[in-house]
Amino acid sequence: MCETQKVNERETLEALLDADRWIDRVCAQRDHLPEAAELLELEDRLRTMANTLRTLEAIRVPLAHAFEDATAQADTLRRRRDALAVRLAAPSSNAKELTVLDTEMKHLSELLSGAEDSEVLALLEVEPVEAEVVELKASAAPLVERRSSLRAVIEELQGTLNEEIQALRESREEAAARVPENLRARYESARKRSGSTGAARVVDGRCDACRMALSPLDFDRWRATTMLTMSDCPECGRMLIPC
Ligand SMILES: [Zn+2]
Repeated sequence: MCETQKVNERETLEALLDADRWIDRVCAQRDHLPEAAELLELEDRLRTMANTLRTLEAIRVPLAHAFEDATAQADTLRRRRDALAVRLAAPSSNAKELTVLDTEMKHLSELLSGAEDSEVLALLEVEPVEAEVVELKASAAPLVERRSSLRAVIEELQGTLNEEIQALRESREEAAARVPENLRARYESARKRSGSTGAARVVDGRCDACRMALSPLDFDRWRATTMLTMSDCPECGRMLIPC
């Protein structure tokens, strides 16, 4: 094999390697968007808030019903007292009637006083829980808004990156087609094993894909290799492009 052919082989292999590395970088960018990390954290916070809200609601609802009942009861008594007051004030009432009405008014007033105490107590119980619910909903509102905008941004970014990946994959197939078949088959098989690329360069005595330092023996062996006798990285199995 002449020198030019070997150089071309190396160039095509390096072009394929670089194409795969570029695709990996863009895929990693798409799969690790800072916005996606923020969204996960945000969703976690919102889930916690939703749980807290459920717990608060479980406390608030019976307390609110108790307050409504106490108010309804006090309202009924207030209406009865007012009606009685009207009758008491009526000029037609005789003394006997007035005594009966007065006794009833006293009794009603006692009942109303008790009912109003219960109403206040129920209000005091429900108010702080209601305030907590309002506060929690208010603090969740901007987070919900941020979640929507993050989802939209992520969708747009991923769409753009997916288009870029698609274009890079097409260029990658063109680069792969330029690699001699036997070399390509070996590259693809190593790529399958590693899950990303099928070759690597040796930089400062290390495989620049898995970062494993070659032993002195492997390093000497690699230095002596050519495109025809390429060795594999002992750690990740990628072909080590000769120097
Ligand atoms: Zn390696």
